[in-house]
Amino acid sequence: MDIKASLGGKAVLVAVSKTKPVEDILALYAEGQRDFGENYVQELVDKQLRVPSDIRWHFIGHLQSNKVRYIIGFIHLIHGVDSLSLLKEINKQAVKAGRVVDVLLQVYIAREETKFGLDPAELSDLVQTVQAAPEEWTNVRLRGLMGMASFSNNPDSIRSEFRTLKGLFDKYFAVSEPRPILSMGMSGDYQLAEAEGSTMVRIGSLLFGKRG
Ligand SMILES: *Cc1c(COP(=O)(O)O)cnc(C)c1O
Repeated sequence: MDIKASLGGKAVLVAVSKTKPVEDILALYAEGQRDFGENYVQELVDKQLRVPSDIRWHFIGHLQSNKVRYIIGFIHLIHGVDSLSLLKEINKQAVKAGRVVDVLLQVYIAREETKFGLDPAELSDLVQTVQAAPEEWTNVRLRGLMGMASFSNNPDSIRSEFRTLKGLFDKYFAVSEPRPILSMGMSGDYQLAEAEGSTMVRIGSLLFGKRG
């Protein structure tokens, strides 16, 4: 299935390779894919050493502050920032590494208990905290938002969750430069996500097959 063609070039495709072997990554790489996403720090670090260095690595899982330093030297985009303390640690480690690192704030839009993320009030607080003291945030750039819809068969409820996220994105990131990023959509709902304004989809099982 040609996901890239079905995306119509509107959204960046991040191939989610978690739990899959390096051979699978290299096969997609040979077809020209460069953006790959992983959820676990150790797995990402191991794989990153074994693949070409022009791969753009996306961290899409829940990042613990004490693990930031393992990925800070090479990570392209951290999708799941959901606290001020994590953002501080990323900035601190990025200073040490001499890099400016792009991050997305993760917003909680699903009705399930297990998902991480900020609620709208927490999002507002965090954005304001950063904007109030730009001189403290020399080495991170807030590039946009990330969210996950509920696991549901009801397209209307998924659509309304994506719409909520898009509304917040427009509120906080409409005028930012370079082009802001809205990371939403997975194997089961990426078409809905793109219709609702996603600029980046994270797709695993549709590309690599089901995870064991
Ligand atoms: C695993 C994962 C994906 C990909 O899920 P698929 O349903 O396999 O496409 C996307 N985003 C996040 C945050 C994930 O953890």
